Amino acid sequence: MFQQLPQLVDVRGSVKRDGSYQKRSLSQITGIARHHSATTSGDAFSFANYHVDSLGWPSVGYHFVITKDGTIQWANGIDRISYHVGNNNTPLIGVCLVGSSSFTEAQERSFFDLQAALRGTDGVGVSIGDVKGHREYPGHSSNTCPGIDMDSVREAVREGHPVGEDLTPTLRPGDNGPAVARMQQMLLDAGEKLPLYGTDGDFGDETENAVRSFQESQNLNVDGVVGPNTWEALEASAVKGKLAVVLAEVLNVRSRPSFDADAVAGTVSQGEAFTIMEKVNVDGSSTEMFRLKSGLYITAHPGYVQVK
Ligand SMILES: [Zn+2]
Repeated sequence: MFQQLPQLVDVRGSVKRDGSYQKRSLSQITGIARHHSATTSGDAFSFANYHVDSLGWPSVGYHFVITKDGTIQWANGIDRISYHVGNNNTPLIGVCLVGSSSFTEAQERSFFDLQAALRGTDGVGVSIGDVKGHREYPGHSSNTCPGIDMDSVREAVREGHPVGEDLTPTLRPGDNGPAVARMQQMLLDAGEKLPLYGTDGDFGDETENAVRSFQESQNLNVDGVVGPNTWEALEASAVKGKLAVVLAEVLNVRSRPSFDADAVAGTVSQGEAFTIMEKVNVDGSSTEMFRLKSGLYITAHPGYVQVK
């Protein structure tokens, strides 16, 4: 439920209003439209003043405004048809990030949390593909809004994290947070032990000892710091021997890590599972594939294949 997000502040009763937006049922909602304010500052209150006083609207045009510090201002009920994508307002929820083509990490975290919560709201039928930018709607392609490449936003959402988040930051003893917890899980997957604290997200003595033990086993520099080489070794260990389960209806398997047509060696179907030997880069791109026990290759994209 989006109402439960800790960074959400309900400002529906305190932003400027003159009249009210028309109502809709939640089942009419088919998409989430992302906007930027095209300003470097501001919030739901200043936007409401402008939209009411200068544009003559009932209130601020967006349902949600995400300010620079990541606060989500809830400005209109999602059962209201507010104004943010001309001719497309009836089925859309409008979310505006304050900024002009440049957003803070806190804002991207909040956008990620909000879109997930909205998609999970009872009665709202919105998929990840329905999370779009203002300019992606018919008739709006000349608009620069939302000031970000929405393909990268959707790809990050499919992978389960905010866009732009560094998934493998250098981690040192004393650090904490979700990246530490992910690293701890990879240590466990690699056979290291964290008997007292497990994946608690705190890089303490137990984790440091496990990192050193892992580095020693991999012939890495044993310094207790998780940098690029240690991350790479952790990722390699974490998938080896696991299963790649096909999520897509049909997927190609390939004779080599390449998207060339002549590399296609056959197809596999949804639900089939294959043992992973390693993760490899596809020639000339940042895309990754799994080398399977059979010697064939399959995409490592988490939207198509799940590691179990
Ligand atoms: Zn817009």
